[in-house]
Amino acid sequence: MITIDGSEGEGGGQVLRYACALSLLTGEPFTIENIRGGREKPGLMRQHVTAIEAACVIGNAECSGLAVGSTSISFRPGTVTPGDYHFAVGTAGSTGLVLQTVLVPLMLASVPSRLVIEGGTHALAAPPFDFIERTLLPVINRMGPTITAKLVRHGFFPRGGGRIEIDIDPAPLRAIKCIDRGTAGPMQVTAIVAGIPFDVADRELKAAQKVLMDWPAEAFVTRQLPADQGPGNALLLEASFEHVTEMMSAFGKIGVPAERLAKTAARRMAGYLASDAFAGPYLQDQLLLPMAIARGGAFTTVKISEHTRTAASLIEQFVGSRFRLLERDEGANLVEVDVSTS
Ligand code: AMP
Repeated sequence: MITIDGSEGEGGGQVLRYACALSLLTGEPFTIENIRGGREKPGLMRQHVTAIEAACVIGNAECSGLAVGSTSISFRPGTVTPGDYHFAVGTAGSTGLVLQTVLVPLMLASVPSRLVIEGGTHALAAPPFDFIERTLLPVINRMGPTITAKLVRHGFFPRGGGRIEIDIDPAPLRAIKCIDRGTAGPMQVTAIVAGIPFDVADRELKAAQKVLMDWPAEAFVTRQLPADQGPGNALLLEASFEHVTEMMSAFGKIGVPAERLAKTAARRMAGYLASDAFAGPYLQDQLLLPMAIARGGAFTTVKISEHTRTAASLIEQFVGSRFRLLERDEGANLVEVDVSTS
């Protein structure tokens, strides 16, 4: 039985999701206390409960203490069973984060799975659907499995109501090296609006354009969704390279000026472009679990995040694989599985 202090390191929901995935992958039960102890409102939120329930369903696992607000749970895994599953968060809680919990166990199963997940698709502090489809999955697919993702309907905070469908064709994971991102391809900034004034999109694009001055005017586009998918707004900044597509995002929030959101996201993109890293600030922690299971692999990245450090130490607790996190003065930082420990 592994014991985890959920307030350590990043102290958020990711520890919990990765612990469930690692437990299903290793058969090792765990207890976690001080869940989301590093967050303003600690304890399980609806989306975390759905993610753990999803892990229980696909992995025939038992979990005690599972309720909204709970600060500790015990999780005992069973056997992972691939198949057709439908999970609904019931709020705008992230569909992508439910996927983050079950994806790796299912992509190592013996036969394919199909997931339908309902909830938020473009929500704060979580990977938007487009990031999953165009940034994360292409890298994971290079490791062996074939995973395709479809966005059926957008879901924004606070209403939710989004729907994604994921097809997972499993394969053993092979170690890959993601060092160079290759030559630059097209760049695009998309302001999505649903049931809110069009001028919000316009203001976001203008603010992003002021930061990304060398991006061509035609790279800045607005996408208006049917009003019944809103109210909602997201800004997606996408940079394609030969070997990776990186994406930064911002999500409209009442009380926060559109210009400010856009400027922050655009600066993040400018920071990524100024580096020569493969992985940006979010992709890095999401590559750790598949690479640990592949027992090898490496990637270059921008500043190593607290999410990455926390995930690396959790993975070490479960599977013994260590990551070397090399911060370098010149060139991008390097994260690699320490093969001597795997
Ligand atoms: P936590 O904050 O612990 O709930 O974990 C959030 C997870 O969502 C981490 O894996 C982050 O890398 C990921 N994430 C947060 N914001 C974004 C974003 N804008 N784009 C992609 N992934 C994100």
